[in-house]
Amino acid sequence: MPVKITLQHIRAARERIAGKVERTPAVLSQSLSDRAGHPVHLKLEHHQTTGAFKLRGASNAIAALSLQERSRGVVAASTGNHGRALAHAARLEGMRAVICMSRLVPENKLDAIRRLGADIRIVGNSQDDAQQEVDRLVAEEGLVMLPPFDHPDIIAGQGTLGLEIMEQVPDAAAVLVPLSGGGLAAGVAAAVKGVSPVTKVIGVSMARGAAMKASLDAGRPVQIEELPTLADSLGGGIGLDNRLTFAMCRDLLDDVVLLAEDEIAAGIRHAYEQEREIVEGAGAVGIGALLSGKVTAKGPTVLILSGRNIDMALHRRIVCGEAATATERAA
Ligand SMILES: *Cc1c(COP(=O)(O)O)cnc(C)c1O
Repeated sequence: MPVKITLQHIRAARERIAGKVERTPAVLSQSLSDRAGHPVHLKLEHHQTTGAFKLRGASNAIAALSLQERSRGVVAASTGNHGRALAHAARLEGMRAVICMSRLVPENKLDAIRRLGADIRIVGNSQDDAQQEVDRLVAEEGLVMLPPFDHPDIIAGQGTLGLEIMEQVPDAAAVLVPLSGGGLAAGVAAAVKGVSPVTKVIGVSMARGAAMKASLDAGRPVQIEELPTLADSLGGGIGLDNRLTFAMCRDLLDDVVLLAEDEIAAGIRHAYEQEREIVEGAGAVGIGALLSGKVTAKGPTVLILSGRNIDMALHRRIVCGEAATATERAA
């Protein structure tokens, strides 16, 4: 199956979102470079507006809507970084955004999205109930659903991160990308390989509930049990009817590695103590992968620090060495 999103789409996305998202710095990590024996650069995407790269895809998808679609508004069921990004990007365009969530979503997550100006719909007791409300709003009120990863404009928007990386570190031998539904990995890999086919792109997920890795191993999208993890932004499935990201990850990623919870915690701790950066679990998996020795690149390596939206009480426990597993997380 041919790869659907190319350098051309990603360059067009960059034009569209210019001025709406930050170009984030890529900085050398002295401590990781010393350890690895070659330069290791950190792409500080956790400093992106809303605290994660998802604003790139959301801004691009919104900018690509027709005037008629804009007047109807957008809707999604995400309570995490995609929900925040969509709320922010819609407000910037003076558009309506509706975020549907279940009654079980914690108050702090709900508040973060409400503060960004979104309409919040609270329905039912599960993510499935929330998705049903999304489907109803699409069918009955004509809102446009923008999913978190499996959409061409979302993938192209996330790919702009890959273009920046290749400008900032043109001799990159490897790029490590946090991997869940694969919108980020597909977009970044398309951009990186489009510019530099020899550069390796490696996906990193948590071992607890790695849906894309299980799907790649099975040769088709499969569903696996979702488990609590420190990398909560990497949770969730890839969709049994996945249209784009599965095939792109299959065709473009050189490898996918999985991390244990204590390796993710070590990444968060290293980011804080050595790099003076606060990152969430999903944003720390690249550092965790290098520290664990599960990835050994042969030249300049770029790690994407993808987000920083972590509960600060949990972060404190992790950097104090008190919480290193998902079970302790709930304590
Ligand atoms: C969504 C997210 C990811 C994973 O992105 P996918 O496109 O779903 O693979 C990684 N890190 C953070 C912080 C995220 O919010």
